[in-house]
Amino acid sequence: MYDILVVGSGPAGLSAAVNARRRNKQVLVVGKEMHSNKLRQAHRVDNYLGIPQIKGLDLAAKYREHAQDEGVELKTDELLNLWVEKDGFQGMGKNVLYQAKAVILAVGTPQKASIPGEEELVGKGVSYCATCDGMFYRGQQVLVYSEVVEGEKEANFLADLCAKVYYLPRYQGPYTDLDSRVELLSGRLVRLHGTEQLTGVTTSTGEYEVEGVFIERAGLPLDRLLPGLEMENGAIKVDRRMATNIPGVFAAGDCTGKPWQIAKAVGEGQVAALAAVDYLADRR
Ligand SMILES: Cc1cc2nc3c(=O)[nH]c(=O)nc-3n(C[C@H](O)[C@H](O)[C@H](O)COP(=O)(O)OP(=O)(O)OC[C@H]3O[C@@H](n4cnc5c(N)ncnc54)[C@H](O)[C@@H]3O)c2cc1C
Repeated sequence: MYDILVVGSGPAGLSAAVNARRRNKQVLVVGKEMHSNKLRQAHRVDNYLGIPQIKGLDLAAKYREHAQDEGVELKTDELLNLWVEKDGFQGMGKNVLYQAKAVILAVGTPQKASIPGEEELVGKGVSYCATCDGMFYRGQQVLVYSEVVEGEKEANFLADLCAKVYYLPRYQGPYTDLDSRVELLSGRLVRLHGTEQLTGVTTSTGEYEVEGVFIERAGLPLDRLLPGLEMENGAIKVDRRMATNIPGVFAAGDCTGKPWQIAKAVGEGQVAALAAVDYLADRR
């Protein structure tokens, strides 16, 4: 069991992890992306103190290297569920179960079900995990809607199972990792159809009959990740120690609200780490 499980490997998560390691805690960071999608998109960061004119991707690589040098364990996976256990927390990734005594959520801007029909059809044709649910759609027609490049891997995996896979990306190409069996679409996802079961989708360019829609965002809606987590104005509610309403769960970065900036994320990551360390000491 780890001392601290950090969810998200952006600036907030890696800052939390480095600071917790410096207090000699065993830390695991589970991040859906190798580098935060947002940092990757930031062509030039000019307002981060002491390192002007740096590319977001270069900063992300520096953060990762720093964390690894400190002995932080980094795992590329998406945490799908988190729940409280007698001795701490358990979290389910796509294939792996993680255990820790405390948790720091650094998941970026909170995601929510935003496509008409999405919320009603979760588990009835709408899925957030191809690895977990892909087999249910063997031989069927599916569509992958993705806001992150990682969606290409999920579509390729589904191409091995499904009769037809459409891929509708909401990020800039070149989509070079996409399998030739996957049909690339353009436009927006406008509506998901069906009541008891998904029957098809409307995009801004056409209608598609599909039995499954896989939605890939930077993260999951927070009420699915950790039920009972208190929110305020669309962000995770925290106190000055970055503690949430659930004892042992802390949060940092964009997920706690504006300003959505790197310096705030890094600072909050440090505060959350120190608060989590104090929490572990009190528990003893
Ligand atoms: C184009 C652009 C330019 C920007 N320019 C600047 C700038 O110049 N200066 C500045 O200060 N800020 C800038 N920003 C904002 C800055 O990038 C963010 O404020 C910062 O990245 C927030 O860090 P974070 O760690 O809170 O979240 P993120 O960087 O979003 O990282 C969160 C990570 O958590 C992962 N995650 C979410 N849910 C899960 C889960 N369930 N399991 C596993 N992993 C999960 C996500 O995939 C993501 O990788 C810019 C943003 C953009 C989009």
